[in-house]
Amino acid sequence: MSVKNHKYIFVIGGVMSGVGKGITTSAIGAILQAKGFSVNLLKVDPYLNVDAGTMNPTEHGEVFVLDSGLETDQDMGNYERFLNRSLTNCDYITSGMVYKHVIEAERALKYQGRCVEAIPQIRDEIIERLERSANVNKTEISVVEIGGTVGDYQNIMFIEAARRMKVQNPDDVLFVMVSYMPVPSKLGEMKSKPTQNAIRLLNSYGVNADIIIARSEVPMDDRRREKIANSCSVRTDHVISAPDIESVFDVPLNFEKDKMSELLMKVLRLKKKKNETGMKEWETFAKRVKSVKKIVNIAIVGKYFNTGDFVLTDAYVSVLEAIKYSAYKLGYKPKIHTVNARDFEGVNAKDSDLKKLKEFDGIIVPGGFGESGIEGKLAVIKYARENKIPYFGLCYGMQLMVIEYARNVLGLKDANTAEINPKSSAVVIDIMPEQKKLLAEGKYGASMRLGAYDASLKEGTIARDAYSSKTVTERHRHRYEVNPDFVEIIQNAGLIFSGSSPSGKLMEIAELPKNKHPFFLGTQFHPEFLARPLAPHPLFTAFIKAATKGKK
Ligand code: GLN
Repeated sequence: MSVKNHKYIFVIGGVMSGVGKGITTSAIGAILQAKGFSVNLLKVDPYLNVDAGTMNPTEHGEVFVLDSGLETDQDMGNYERFLNRSLTNCDYITSGMVYKHVIEAERALKYQGRCVEAIPQIRDEIIERLERSANVNKTEISVVEIGGTVGDYQNIMFIEAARRMKVQNPDDVLFVMVSYMPVPSKLGEMKSKPTQNAIRLLNSYGVNADIIIARSEVPMDDRRREKIANSCSVRTDHVISAPDIESVFDVPLNFEKDKMSELLMKVLRLKKKKNETGMKEWETFAKRVKSVKKIVNIAIVGKYFNTGDFVLTDAYVSVLEAIKYSAYKLGYKPKIHTVNARDFEGVNAKDSDLKKLKEFDGIIVPGGFGESGIEGKLAVIKYARENKIPYFGLCYGMQLMVIEYARNVLGLKDANTAEINPKSSAVVIDIMPEQKKLLAEGKYGASMRLGAYDASLKEGTIARDAYSSKTVTERHRHRYEVNPDFVEIIQNAGLIFSGSSPSGKLMEIAELPKNKHPFFLGTQFHPEFLARPLAPHPLFTAFIKAATKGKK
């Protein structure tokens, strides 16, 4: 159902990907929110996967999980972090979701004998979903990032849906193109042609940009601004220069320096609100990011780093962000080191390599799946435990911490997770019966324990102190759990389960007491998904505090 006077801002990429469409969308959300508007941010992804859950993180980056359990693109994480609030199930749309729905409706005779086609059925299903998101969020403005770049085959239906919405309500729909203006080193001049071509492509779909954000290494001069305005049919004051900057957290502030929110309000005919909050808190945060000097060295021991000749940290973006926010809060600049777990196993394993871990103030083993890299991670965890290096295990990192403890402290040398060796004599991490059934039926998509679940915390533990609360809600994404049959013997051997599901059946947090280790803690959930710039996560903060203890 269409929402009266609801405004839509569509953010479309021109020239190439990776120039900051996601950050632009997030920053637009943040500045409009600061102006007193209620805003929701959406990502529409052109691929046919129904959600992001089945995609390889090395290729596609992190799978970001919402409270509802929906597995989404990592951009959704940026949106939540910039808006400082959680988003809903309706705020993420893929072509797969749309087509699946339409095809299922066709099979159920819902179209009453009509021919079902991309236009209008697919397009209208997209429009309906955008409107549902506005309704569910009860917001005034939706900012919608269209995945991919203009000219891609895959996102045409989404652009078509946006075009149609503009035809129906011209004053309520606005297009922002985030484009790229290269400065080839041999020429030493900023070139506008690729952006002109991108706009021409967009025009061929019946859409023009209202605002062009020109991303580049350097600020844009007036000559180029006029050229873009002339050839792309926009006013010069609708061309915004967005040069590379030191910190992405400055993006909303720079937009405001350029009076971007006023421009958006003018084009969308929005009146100034009385409940403006301004960006004071954000400004203080952004300033702090640039002023912290003392370094804290944190290692992430993972395996989804290498793609071709490049090393990317995209698979762990929320973990990286979570570390940063807590470090900034405590006055530290985090230096994050990516360490490949496979370097510590098989023929690669050398004691001297493990000793190098001493250089780090803290070690994180993040989430993961499958066998490769786990013996390396186990070696790292053992080293961190024995050498009292602060250790934080996230999901797989917690399960492996329990396995390491069972093997090396309890002496259950064969201890393992059912994910790797279900025939082990000590399956300390096991699959739950409901999960077993799903796997036997070949149902892999969206079938894990996903989304927000409560945990109760034990008095007198690191976790309880960090949260200063008896219960917490955290987001999950895993199939395996600590085997209830081993809980007692593990606890008797000294590893405490300081958080569990309210029923007491599922173990949520494991830790060593403070007098045994400065910080040796793992969570079955993913705390990184709820870490926000203006609200750092308490467990990350406790970890960084332990990592920086006694540092000068
Ligand atoms: N592979 C483990 C499981 O499925 C951990 C998952 C994760 O780290 N997200 O339970």
